[in-house]
Amino acid sequence: MNVPPLDLRAQYRTIKDEIDRKVLEVLAAQGFVLGPEVESLEKEIAAYSGARFGIGVSSGSDALMIALMALGIGRGDAVVTTPFTFFATAGAVSRLGARPVFCDIDERTFNMDPAGLEAVLAREAKTGGREKVRAVIPVHLYGQCADMDSILGLAEAAGLFVIEDAAQAIGTDYPSVRGVRKAGAIGHCGVFSFYPTKNLGGAGDGGMVLTDDAKLAATLRTLRVHGERARYYYDVLGGNFRLDALQAAILRVKLKHLDRWQELRRERAATYDRALAEAGLVEDGSVLIPEALYRGSGIKDFHTYHQYVVRVRRRDELKEFLAGRGIGSMIYYPMPLHLQKCFAGLGYRENDFPRSEKAAREVLALPLYPELIRDQQDYVVSVLKDFYRRG
Ligand SMILES: *Cc1c(COP(=O)(O)O)cnc(C)c1O
Repeated sequence: MNVPPLDLRAQYRTIKDEIDRKVLEVLAAQGFVLGPEVESLEKEIAAYSGARFGIGVSSGSDALMIALMALGIGRGDAVVTTPFTFFATAGAVSRLGARPVFCDIDERTFNMDPAGLEAVLAREAKTGGREKVRAVIPVHLYGQCADMDSILGLAEAAGLFVIEDAAQAIGTDYPSVRGVRKAGAIGHCGVFSFYPTKNLGGAGDGGMVLTDDAKLAATLRTLRVHGERARYYYDVLGGNFRLDALQAAILRVKLKHLDRWQELRRERAATYDRALAEAGLVEDGSVLIPEALYRGSGIKDFHTYHQYVVRVRRRDELKEFLAGRGIGSMIYYPMPLHLQKCFAGLGYRENDFPRSEKAAREVLALPLYPELIRDQQDYVVSVLKDFYRRG
């Protein structure tokens, strides 16, 4: 049996007519950059997530950059995030001349540990570098929200902006003290990625910034078009961060299916949870299944399982074994950012963030997507069992 890590063609087959019709509409109109499709998508995603404004941009990475730019972060500033995330989270900070400052993760969720954040902020305030901490970027990794109440509390006390990296968590509910909020609409601003493999993915690159702040939204819109105030007049330095109409049109079709897809992801995650336990793999410590912290909180989309990530023994060997039996698994991410060569200048070394480093050695994403069928999941679990039984 073949079980790819993701099957976008299977998804396309289920919505082909709708997508094709919409694409032809855009081609007929010949308006390709920004325009009505983008504006509608912005309104729909802002409404879906419970934010006032959505600003469609060219990618999730650019969404992070433009959010930082709009908040005036650059040279002389520092931004705290975790080293256990996709590269762009810290890359955006560095590209603007600011210094990424890392803090370790919570082992259960792989997300920013508020205690770690508190310690880092205290240390930065005391010894500091040349740069002053201005913002925090919590990442909602794999589809589960970071501990936002604690992070917002610490940020508020220190006068910091909070930019949520919600690239992997569109639609995820978070039971905040102020009521249930959706990922991306909890901090000062939040960013999404519409990279094809994300839970809401386009036919190419795309992203969005959400905010409730009208002034920030206006700044973001200006920065998106080179900082243009009026046609060919520029007061501030921006860039080309525009979203294409074709992407917006396709995303609007897919958005209508998102909640159902999330439900299917959650069902499949629960199936893995059960099957892995029934196979005895959890009990004997071979496999640690993902922690869904807010499962019992009564909220619906407590985890949207962008990835179903387990911790396993003999990870690399297992990955090979799975591949040999037609199962595609992935490692998000094999090397934490503080150990990446391009960040050597930040002065971090091995053992600085032991939980992130341990996660990088142990995590494995099993195939999970709405179109995955039960037989495929049973097969994955039986191959896992096979591997560990052989010892
Ligand atoms: C995908 C992703 C991004 C970047 O999004 P792109 O659209 O690929 O530029 C940023 N952060 C995280 C956590 C991501 O998963």
